[in-house]
Amino acid sequence: MAGTREREIGRNLKAGYRRAAAKPAAMPAPAKNMEECEKTVLRLQGVTKRYTLGETIVDALRGVDLEVKKGDSISIMGPSGSGKSTLLHILGCLDIPSTGKYYLDGIDVSTLSSDALAQVRAKKIGFVFQFFYLIPSLNAVENVMLPMVFDSVGEEERFRRAEKLLNDVGLSHRMYHKPNELSGGERQRVAIARALSQEPAVLLADEPTGNLDSVVGEEIISLFHKLHHDKCITLVTVTHDPGIANYSDKIIYIKDGRVVDISKGKNHAALKERLKTFVPSWEKNKR
Ligand code: ADP
Ligand code: MG
Repeated sequence: MAGTREREIGRNLKAGYRRAAAKPAAMPAPAKNMEECEKTVLRLQGVTKRYTLGETIVDALRGVDLEVKKGDSISIMGPSGSGKSTLLHILGCLDIPSTGKYYLDGIDVSTLSSDALAQVRAKKIGFVFQFFYLIPSLNAVENVMLPMVFDSVGEEERFRRAEKLLNDVGLSHRMYHKPNELSGGERQRVAIARALSQEPAVLLADEPTGNLDSVVGEEIISLFHKLHHDKCITLVTVTHDPGIANYSDKIIYIKDGRVVDISKGKNHAALKERLKTFVPSWEKNKR
């Protein structure tokens, strides 16, 4: 079951879509120094996050420096409570740092208003979560169309795009199914198609296979990497599973709110090879 925090994220995401639709804020201009930000898509400098709950203070992040290049695939690992989700939420503009700087595609997002933040989030970031957050009353194609409401394109074009995205994730035969008429793996694929609907520069996933069995989980991760590879999307995945983390270019380990180690994913090259001939089981078994 999704917890309070997860429900809050779901509400924030929907509110963000609505806010961005109702009031398109002027997009902030990228930093002048284009050379510096040309290749680096995410840059954190000394980022801290402090939560204050009454008398209790939680320092969830204690000075994180991180640089992610365009087209990198990164996994974030660490014990429960180490700050992984907090880090991902900051990277995804769902939250802002308490101190420190965060540049996304050259834009300093640490100081943006909530409207501007919603706009940046909607245009640049795709999210996939453990609990999918599909709207139960909407079918697959409507769920994928939802974030496009603030595009200036008509409904027909939105439908066409959503149809194409569902086809990319192997779900063209499930377009009119509602979430409760789909398997866990299919729901996650709808969520992935929705995450890609704005052609984001960055795809962020918080334990995307946490609710799936290992075979489906492996296929979802292969799909992520295929999309990452085909569309040159920057991919950041929080995972507990070392097997999944090893498919990334780089694994970032965090502990007590700090980056304690960075290593290369051992199976990244092997996965890249495998993806050249990857045919997911849902393509083989389409009914
Ligand atoms: P992880 O994803 O690695 O399990 P989190 O980033 O969710 O860790 O949480 C890091 C720490 O911050 C934990 O101690 C958690 O209890 C705390 N925390 C997370 N969100 C909040 C919040 N909204 N308010 C207060 N404390 C929080
Ligand atoms: Mg977490």
